Amino acid sequence: MTHLIITNPATGQAIAEVGLDNQLSLSQKFSDAQGAQRLWRKSSVGERVECALRFKSLLLSQIEILARDLTLETGKPISQSRGEIRSVTSRIDFFVENTPSILERQSVSASNSTVEEVIEHEPLGVVANISAWNYPYFVGLNVVIPALLTGNAVVYKPSEFATLSGLHIVRLLKEAGFPSGLVACAVGTAEVGDALLSLPLNGVFFTGSQATGQKILQKVGSRMMRLQLELGGKDGIYVCDDASLAHAVPSIAEGAFYNAGQGCCSVERVFIHDSIYERFKDAFIKEVSSFKIGDPLDEATFIGPLTRPQHVKFLLEQVDDARKHNDKILLGGDKFPGGGSYFSPTVIECNKANGRLMQEESFGPIVALQRVSGDDVAIARLNDTDFGLTAGVYSKDKDRAVRILKEVEVGSAYWNCCDRVSPYLPWSGRKGSGIGATLGTEGIRCFTQSKSWHLRPQPA
Ligand code: NAD
Repeated sequence: MTHLIITNPATGQAIAEVGLDNQLSLSQKFSDAQGAQRLWRKSSVGERVECALRFKSLLLSQIEILARDLTLETGKPISQSRGEIRSVTSRIDFFVENTPSILERQSVSASNSTVEEVIEHEPLGVVANISAWNYPYFVGLNVVIPALLTGNAVVYKPSEFATLSGLHIVRLLKEAGFPSGLVACAVGTAEVGDALLSLPLNGVFFTGSQATGQKILQKVGSRMMRLQLELGGKDGIYVCDDASLAHAVPSIAEGAFYNAGQGCCSVERVFIHDSIYERFKDAFIKEVSSFKIGDPLDEATFIGPLTRPQHVKFLLEQVDDARKHNDKILLGGDKFPGGGSYFSPTVIECNKANGRLMQEESFGPIVALQRVSGDDVAIARLNDTDFGLTAGVYSKDKDRAVRILKEVEVGSAYWNCCDRVSPYLPWSGRKGSGIGATLGTEGIRCFTQSKSWHLRPQPA
């Protein structure tokens, strides 16, 4: 196979054909990147910042072309595609504003020391960014921009389901003035990702499923290089008895169904206090039923098709498993009628804790509701998964929400909000949701390694 066929999930039709990489072309891209990085590591931060800001302007000036291709290849509704590209520019601003101070040389000697002690922050070298398709601009640029700003080169493998967006990113980085060879796109499927990992990289930054993360860990774990894994989630929300339903219902429904639920921090489990369960359930179903499902190029569409057609079968199996557990399908539960890989927005009342719907990432428009009798049970239920990405509490009482969330093992905790990422905060997973963090200042520092200088003048 020499070409990758790109298919529109809304229609099932091929929309483009792109040449695939192979071991030989990857080795060439890697050695070009190595050569370019040797010079780039000596460039000033100011020069790098200028390239990043030009890149940001190019993203905004070409937003319509970029958003359309993102929608055509992933099925993401066009308004959400534009939203992703617009918001990624605030992440670029954060990286640009914070990298210079992070790279500053620090003098740390004790005042009475005769040895000058200094810390310098050097780049890692050539890093690989192997990435997911669900938010290709976010997960691609969370790595590529801080890696370049801190003096690294990047071989970037976008998902095979977001290749056009990956190619646009690399084209615009070049147009913005990042030197030739410094950033390269590796086109292909798992096979190309695996081949990329065979190269003598200085770091691997991966965003994708837990299963692939485990394979990557096995493959490169013994190679003593920087490795970060941003994996899946099974994110839970607890709605307390004092929560405002007028706020909680639309907020949680959007957090569960935005991008057809294909988000690492999409809400997948909602635990609701017994005393408000029935009212929450009725209002939630009404809210979800109002979502417009359809052509992702239509400005009014809120839910488009699933990006990967084969995922329809996976979700149907989860629904079947729920039926076997005597869970109640309150809404949907089937493939949406017509062509394309659409799945009906689905709400299921789950009685048990151990079904697939409560344990396994769905990554689609399915959400499970479950009654709980109080805060302690909710904490146990929120923690009852192998994942640990995010959790949220809806309540009018901030102290109560914070008390609950301190007991929940997740990287991000939300009070009265959900499905939210900020450039100012590190994005990290606990337990099976990964290793390391992107975003925040940690998400810049992770592309550097410190060098400690001990400088002693020769005695006279
Ligand atoms: P995936 O694991 O199937 O693929 C991710 C990338 O890895 C793709 O580029 C793929 O080609 C490549 N790949 C697959 N097998 C490989 C191998 N053996 N060696 C090297 N590369 C390989 O995941 P996906 O379907 O693209 O993305 C969905 C998953 O990503 C979900 O689990 C989601 O929760 C997760 N995700 C996590 C975050 C986060 O920040 N934690 C963000 C977005 C998505």
